[in-house]
Amino acid sequence: ASSLRRAVHAIIMGPPGSGKGTVSSRIVRDFDMRHLSSGDLLRAEIASKSACGIEAEKYITTGKLAPDTLMVDLILSQLQKLPSGTNWLLDGFPRSLGQAESLSEKEKVDFVINLDVPFDTICERLSGRWTHLPSGRVYNVGFNPPKVAGIDDITGEPLVQREDDKIETVHKRLQTYQTQTLPLLEFYRKRNILHSYSGTKTDEIWPNVKAFLETILVDPKQRRHA
Ligand code: ATP
Ligand code: MG
Repeated sequence: ASSLRRAVHAIIMGPPGSGKGTVSSRIVRDFDMRHLSSGDLLRAEIASKSACGIEAEKYITTGKLAPDTLMVDLILSQLQKLPSGTNWLLDGFPRSLGQAESLSEKEKVDFVINLDVPFDTICERLSGRWTHLPSGRVYNVGFNPPKVAGIDDITGEPLVQREDDKIETVHKRLQTYQTQTLPLLEFYRKRNILHSYSGTKTDEIWPNVKAFLETILVDPKQRRHA
């Protein structure tokens, strides 16, 4: 019977550094969902020096959004590669009204999880953040340090401070978020699929997100029992 259920399609939103990556990693740990992070995909394109990566890099390093057409092509092509029936969670896309409209033309979105974290908390976090680029795993020198400074816990590979986590670019990214991404909340609120979670710590927000997902992903096959 489980083959008859329709796949669940979700989006996770929130300002840069709001914990989307961390919450997403807990979601895929506990539920049967594929996580697609636009930032991680772009960084992989940049690392492989693809045409798309070279184009996107100009925007990323200055805290601007990459062009909608580039992003829509990148994400939709990734979604099309997934086996049909895959539950997915988009992180970092859509990030503009144009992207949201293009996505809704092609795919049904069931719900949007919005992480509502205050701006001063975010500035503090981003400046102390270290990232394992190949996986997107993040650490914070203040509250979530790696076991060994500068080293990823899982792979033993080096961590880096993302170029765009430097303070000037952080301010620009927050501005971009307010002008271009914040209006999306209204877009999804009108469609009655927006679920917002407020807090200053991921550990406070996560139990509420998890409780909500348990009401949606009710099929035991959609839960993981690790
Ligand atoms: P976090 O890593 O904490 O989620 P973030 O959301 O700012 O922070 P990423 O999602 O990794 O960072 O994105 C990094 C950069 O990649 C953005 O600042 C932007 O330049 C570009 N980018 C990512 N997703 C999109 C998108 N959907 N549209 C346009 N540009 C994007
Ligand atoms: Mg991210």
